[in-house]
Amino acid sequence: MARCIRCGRRAVVRLRYARASFCREHFLEYVEDRVRKTVERFGMLRGGDRVLVAVSGGKDSLALLRILSGFEGIEVVPLFIDLGISGYSEECLRACEELCEELGLELQVYDLESRHGFTVDDLARLEPKLGRPVCSSCGLVKRYVLNEAALELEATCLATGHTLDDESAYTLHNVLTGNVDQLLRGGPVLEGRHPKLVRKVKPLYEVSTFETGEYCRLSGVKPVSAECPYRVEKVLRLKELLGHVEEVRPGVRLGFMRFYLKRLKPALAEAYGSKVGEAGSCRLCGFPTSREVCSFCRLKERVLELLGGSRRA
Ligand code: SF4
Ligand code: ZN
Ligand code: ZN
Repeated sequence: MARCIRCGRRAVVRLRYARASFCREHFLEYVEDRVRKTVERFGMLRGGDRVLVAVSGGKDSLALLRILSGFEGIEVVPLFIDLGISGYSEECLRACEELCEELGLELQVYDLESRHGFTVDDLARLEPKLGRPVCSSCGLVKRYVLNEAALELEATCLATGHTLDDESAYTLHNVLTGNVDQLLRGGPVLEGRHPKLVRKVKPLYEVSTFETGEYCRLSGVKPVSAECPYRVEKVLRLKELLGHVEEVRPGVRLGFMRFYLKRLKPALAEAYGSKVGEAGSCRLCGFPTSREVCSFCRLKERVLELLGGSRRA
């Protein structure tokens, strides 16, 4: 029977990449330490920061919220975006509310429909007319409204639950498709390059989804069990692929991401010039864009037009 490397008690989790097993208490401590070190190494948070933590109800963001709520010197503000996905959004909200209640935090809820006049269910229904996959529209909407909410709530930074699995799959996808722009923009800290762009940080950059799942299980956090009905498997397959490689070569994803940050990104920046971009402001909303009207406003306009103005906000 495996023993915890810190106290010798019976282990409940084994991490192959770290060649270590842990008891419940020391596993929780290990994950919290890793996040703390990642935050420090990349200079993600500053004392006095008011950190808006985007929670979706999934294991990654709930683990992130629980971990950050234990940090001293920062103010944590949890935010849930109600995307209006029937049956699913309600369940996600409940999972977030439950954890916030336990942590004694006030959950901020941003309702997409009452704010902008449409839901993700609408985006799904209108998918053929919009000529854009629902997840792509949803991703655009989430990025926009998270930033919008962060500004409204006067947050100094926005923390999201992107994990090592997400980031390594996304980076590999960009390598495979030769997307230099996205490779130059990626990383654990995205500085706001415009007065209306809040700094974004990813404290779980070096923590895997396996670890967040185990963290939730062992700390009593109950993430939503349902999956979004619109989920497509594209990036997921890359995640699975990397998961298989990880089984054969533990630590490969961490190594890949360190290679990306230390070697690949600087080399690309030297070859192509680092992207500072997005100097302009949207004519309609004032948010950053390289065009006259930002992608969100263009999407919103089209959606409201297709909805016939009946639910115009
Ligand atoms: Fe949005 Fe797609 Fe995620 Fe569902 S699976 S929440 S539609 S991005
Ligand atoms: Zn132990
Ligand atoms: Zn706009």
